[in-house]
Amino acid sequence: ETLEVSNFLRQIIDSDLASGKHANRLDSAGKPLPSVITRFPPEPNGYLHIGHAKSICLNFGLARDYAHAPQGARCNMRFDDTNPSKEETEYVDSIIDAVRWLGFDWVEDGVEHQHYASDYFDQLYEFAEKLIEAGKAYIDSQSADEIHKNRGTFTQLGTNSPFRNRAPEENLTLFRDMKAGKYPDGAHVLRLKIDMAHPNIVMRDPVIYRIRHAHHHRTGDKWCIYPLYDFTHCISDALENITHSICTLEFENNRPLYDWVLEALKDIGVFKGPLPKQYEFARLNLTYAITSKRKLLQLVEEKRVDGWDDPRLPTIVGIRRRGFTPESLRLFCERIGVSKADSWIDMSVLEQALRDDLDARAERAFAVLKPLKLIIDNFDPTVEEPCSAPKHPHHEDWGRREFTLTKELWIEADDFMIEPIKGFFRLYPPKDGQPGSRVRLRHGFVIECTGYDTDANGEVTAVHANYFSDSKSGTPESNNYKVKGNLHWVSAKNAIKAEVRIYDRLFTDPHPDSGDKNFLDAINPNSKQVLTAYLEPSLSNVKAEQRFQFERHGYFVADRVDHSAAKPVFNMCVGLKDTWK
Ligand code: ATP
Ligand code: MG
Ligand code: MG
Repeated sequence: ETLEVSNFLRQIIDSDLASGKHANRLDSAGKPLPSVITRFPPEPNGYLHIGHAKSICLNFGLARDYAHAPQGARCNMRFDDTNPSKEETEYVDSIIDAVRWLGFDWVEDGVEHQHYASDYFDQLYEFAEKLIEAGKAYIDSQSADEIHKNRGTFTQLGTNSPFRNRAPEENLTLFRDMKAGKYPDGAHVLRLKIDMAHPNIVMRDPVIYRIRHAHHHRTGDKWCIYPLYDFTHCISDALENITHSICTLEFENNRPLYDWVLEALKDIGVFKGPLPKQYEFARLNLTYAITSKRKLLQLVEEKRVDGWDDPRLPTIVGIRRRGFTPESLRLFCERIGVSKADSWIDMSVLEQALRDDLDARAERAFAVLKPLKLIIDNFDPTVEEPCSAPKHPHHEDWGRREFTLTKELWIEADDFMIEPIKGFFRLYPPKDGQPGSRVRLRHGFVIECTGYDTDANGEVTAVHANYFSDSKSGTPESNNYKVKGNLHWVSAKNAIKAEVRIYDRLFTDPHPDSGDKNFLDAINPNSKQVLTAYLEPSLSNVKAEQRFQFERHGYFVADRVDHSAAKPVFNMCVGLKDTWK
């Protein structure tokens, strides 16, 4: 986990530290500012997903890694909440939970660096007025359609608005009247006066304020004009003294605008240098997953999954419920690294990170997922033979789990075949004068299959065997028995009955929403299976979110929501091996 992946952002930070670019800065109270300040700026309009985890690990991870910088480093938590109609407090809370769960916080010397773009509405408005006064912004009264059309295209220059040369005093009056609620939505907008012939369309007099008579989850009805992303984000960064503002590649074209706004405000004395700089990295694209908030919402609303925290979803709450650990997600983010080139990461990389984390940490247990009765005919029905097994094969110091072997056991239905296929070394009955197979019941005795029972439909209802009383695991005599099959089992007498949910990938297509595909067509109809399983009795006091390796099956977690000691529910996190080819 200490694996240090060098990336282009570290090189930039290293050189900024070397040049002292952000050295000796003081905050408004005269306190030294950290040498490196990043921020994680989600819009609270949905639940975070695995892509956000990459951004969180990057931004908070850099702050952690540069703690040794001359004045330290920190990462601010910022809610980019400038779009009143889509944002809710429920999302703010879930985002805070998710980032904390991933192992990060934003407290420095007892001060919480949790900010909201909406906290800056007053300043943003004041700065907009200053830009108007400086002749750098104007009120446009064209319709949204006209503005869109007159922006031009990649191959066609834009056209100046007929309102572009309004006098600053007139602009100011209109802007104040917009703020005062004198106009309906869409009547006017505030635009920057940059260049309608700029080769970069983003720079063709971008709109920075619009009228929106809408209730905001934090500012209520105080405002009926709201600033847009390109105006808000850079100013929020500057107000928070961010040094490195890291975002995904689709904002590359917006970088000149980011710089333009801050330079313009610097020119009129609002900010002093050095200004924050924007850097872009490639977003995470994960196969067999969807990371668009809109499409995730559709899956939830159409009940194609069991809510935002469905263990099949790549939301942080879903991944958590699936049994992923914060450590495994941080490991995944380190392994995939940070680059400037868009690429796809295979789902198996995420799954392997969990396997690697849990292999070292999860206690082992026996669980029979598809139970079939095994009857040991020569075993005394009144005896409970004590057996034990290590909790972890490499940590003898973790102690042992105790359980008993009795006459009737549960074994996996798949561990028995009436007609064994070639290479099947598990249980099969005697045939044509040949004895039945011999296998070891792990940490118990060697048995020999003697027959089986069927019901009226020919379904196998029980397997019969005899055991060898001198074959107990751990005894010197047990070495006299050489068998190829080694089966897990639980005593029918004291097994714990549990619901076990087996999950598979939600989509059958690695790129369910690429091109003009409809992602709903690629939904895997068998992505969730609910089984009634039997667990070894040592699992009777498991707490929600405890994780185990069920031997021979994979890793399982006690469900965060539904599990209780009275009604155990486990989710499959990941199998033992990567079975996807
Ligand atoms: P979506 O497109 O799913 O709505 P978004 O980018 O609009 O996502 P934000 O809430 O604005 O979501 O994202 C917060 C931060 O997380 C941003 O800095 C954004 O760049 C980053 N982020 C979002 N998705 C990914 C991704 N797939 N990979 C890496 N970073 C991401
Ligand atoms: Mg966004
Ligand atoms: Mg979005």
